[in-house]
Amino acid sequence: MTRFIFITGGVVSSLGKGLASAALGALLQARGYTVRLRKLDPYLNVDPGTMSPFEHGEVFVTDDGAETDLDLGHYERFTGVAARKTDSVSSGRIYSDVLARERRGAYLGKTIQVIPHVTDEIKAFITIGEGEVDFMLCEIGGTVGDIEGLPFFEAIRQFGQDKPRGQCIFIHLTLLPFLNTSGELKTKPTQHSVKEMRSIGLAPDILVCRSEGPIPEQERGKLALFCNVRPDAVVAAQDLDSIYEAPLAYHRAGLDRAVLDAFGIAPAPPPNLEIWADVADRIRNPEGAVRIAIVGKYTRLEDAYKSIAEALTHGGMANRVSVSTEWIDAEMFEHGDVAAHLAGVHAILVPGGFGTRGTEGKIKAAEFARTRGIPYLGICLGMQVAVIEAARNLARLGNAGSEEFGRDSGGGGLTPVIYHLKEWAHGNTRVRRGTDDDKGGTMRLGAYDAVLARGSKVAGIYGRTSISERHRHRYEVDITYRAALERQGMIFSGMSPDGHLPEVVEVKDHPWFIGVQFHPELKSRPFAPHPLFRDFVRAAWENSRLM
Ligand code: GLN
Repeated sequence: MTRFIFITGGVVSSLGKGLASAALGALLQARGYTVRLRKLDPYLNVDPGTMSPFEHGEVFVTDDGAETDLDLGHYERFTGVAARKTDSVSSGRIYSDVLARERRGAYLGKTIQVIPHVTDEIKAFITIGEGEVDFMLCEIGGTVGDIEGLPFFEAIRQFGQDKPRGQCIFIHLTLLPFLNTSGELKTKPTQHSVKEMRSIGLAPDILVCRSEGPIPEQERGKLALFCNVRPDAVVAAQDLDSIYEAPLAYHRAGLDRAVLDAFGIAPAPPPNLEIWADVADRIRNPEGAVRIAIVGKYTRLEDAYKSIAEALTHGGMANRVSVSTEWIDAEMFEHGDVAAHLAGVHAILVPGGFGTRGTEGKIKAAEFARTRGIPYLGICLGMQVAVIEAARNLARLGNAGSEEFGRDSGGGGLTPVIYHLKEWAHGNTRVRRGTDDDKGGTMRLGAYDAVLARGSKVAGIYGRTSISERHRHRYEVDITYRAALERQGMIFSGMSPDGHLPEVVEVKDHPWFIGVQFHPELKSRPFAPHPLFRDFVRAAWENSRLM
């Protein structure tokens, strides 16, 4: 039987609901259970694919090619369970499915209403894959009281009633603000939030309260009394130095115990928290430090590159060094001096991106890394700019550029070494895209296999020659230029299985210069750092000792 845990938020947004859900998933796994985590988002976009990373943070891509919320990244990093298309849904998706069905006449002339049609659709989504795992954790985006959240709250209320008693519990995450003037933690906002929940028929079983410090006994009692939960079900979530301490911290605060109690599971299987103790130890006790520059466009918002930041942290943990990242806006040295910004960093990473802005700056960053022997990891667009740089400066194609940047890139005419891909193989099927297709979902998305050249640096790093990695891009390196580039030392060391699409390039006679068309950061875990990030940070660490 699958048990359901619904996680809602109150008082303010950005309390770390995603992290709390992910950490709880990890704790349940540590007690021997299987879990799946799901995100239900009230916004009206059909998926986050077309949302600006400034607004919503990174778009997380699943193996099965869904563009999802970055919280699914947290879920995967903490549980190691690969998320699926069916683990993330928005109001926009729910409504568009309901409306499409209405147009087909599938409701047989009935009046279509939020209750029951929209709520039924939400409930049907929640039950996908029921029976596959012991616990299904569903996080509802936004906060209780949001207008667009109401159909979701109503749906989970009904869901709790539809199921036999004891199969669903509700966790509410709130904030206990500390008032300096009175020196107190205030419980009133939480009380109000729970009141708001009750007014829509939901009663939390567990309160997870974010606070700067511990919750004194008196406040705990007050919260239990006024919010109608048991005192042990008031769980303190104190601020942490690292998110990877969350499983241990939540365990100490009694979250997993409170969850099992709420389900009446006794005796509770004992937890094995060894991997999290090791992860926390590596974070807390680094034996060195490296500085890595990330040259991108969305550098104003770290969430826009969430998985990359996390994967670098994992790479640091693998080498027992701390990684500090310097976020550099590529436009800064578009016309200025690269060295002024990049001298002194131990490695350079150019992440994925879209559009023309900042690309000349990224090309300069790739050149700087290549010519000065600084470790370089280019991801997706970061690989494409490295190829453009090599085409211009090594293969002497002075006007090399990408079709994405338009005809003016590179001054004068254009040699598009990167072209718009319109047809490709996915396993045994061919995928075709038109230039005017919808903006959403028209990319090469999700997991694709690649074959690594025997003896290449990248094959050595992975320790094998056949890999599968996640993709999200429209443009592709043109193999027409392969021979010219390889003669100059840029090796195409990873290709799609049919040999048409370059997946990895590396520079010969360079300490560490690798570009990948895919997103390795999406598959890195704290307890299983991605080999590319592990080795990239190792190279940065080695470089730091030479500097
Ligand atoms: N804009 C490039 C493309 O579409 C790169 C995409 C990316 O970096 N994710 O191919």
